[in-house]
Amino acid sequence: MTGRSHLLIGGFAVLCAMRWHILSPEPFSVCTGLLGSLLPDIDTERSMLGCRVKFLSRFLAKAFGHRGLTHSGLMLLVIAAISQGLMGPESLRGPWGALLLGAATHIAADLPTGGCQFLAPLSRSRLSLWPYVRTGGIGEIMLLVPILCLLGWAGFSGKGPVAGHVPPPAHPSRLRGHVLKDISFSS
Ligand SMILES: [Zn+2]
Repeated sequence: MTGRSHLLIGGFAVLCAMRWHILSPEPFSVCTGLLGSLLPDIDTERSMLGCRVKFLSRFLAKAFGHRGLTHSGLMLLVIAAISQGLMGPESLRGPWGALLLGAATHIAADLPTGGCQFLAPLSRSRLSLWPYVRTGGIGEIMLLVPILCLLGWAGFSGKGPVAGHVPPPAHPSRLRGHVLKDISFSS
């Protein structure tokens, strides 16, 4: 997929996760989520991110190949598990969690557009869900539109405002006080 498509999917997914209270709603998390959605393609200098750090992307391409270790779903799971173990589950609700989610959407979106080494470094074979969609082609747009519609729908049907922002129900004793005051006025 192109960098623009990855940004769109990553951005929508992060906003969706905030709406569902999986991520805490922080503007910085949107930035890290967008960065994460481009991060796996740092292994090619032809990508949006790779062309800005050519030295690093050339090294990664030589060492692991394009769509190799940086596109490993297994590695991402291991990193998430280590982060949770070292920093606690709350660490995955902030900007770091948004970055990992962005990277996860990138890997998921690359599976139907050529595939990637999903189980690297355990296996170097490419996992591909739908090998006929060409990056940047009409097939990519046909894939992108339903994904964005699905994420948009999931975002709209989210859990609404953060639980802490909902006003607490009136205390029964306060309610009784109002009723008594009303009664004394009317008599
Ligand atoms: Zn990629």
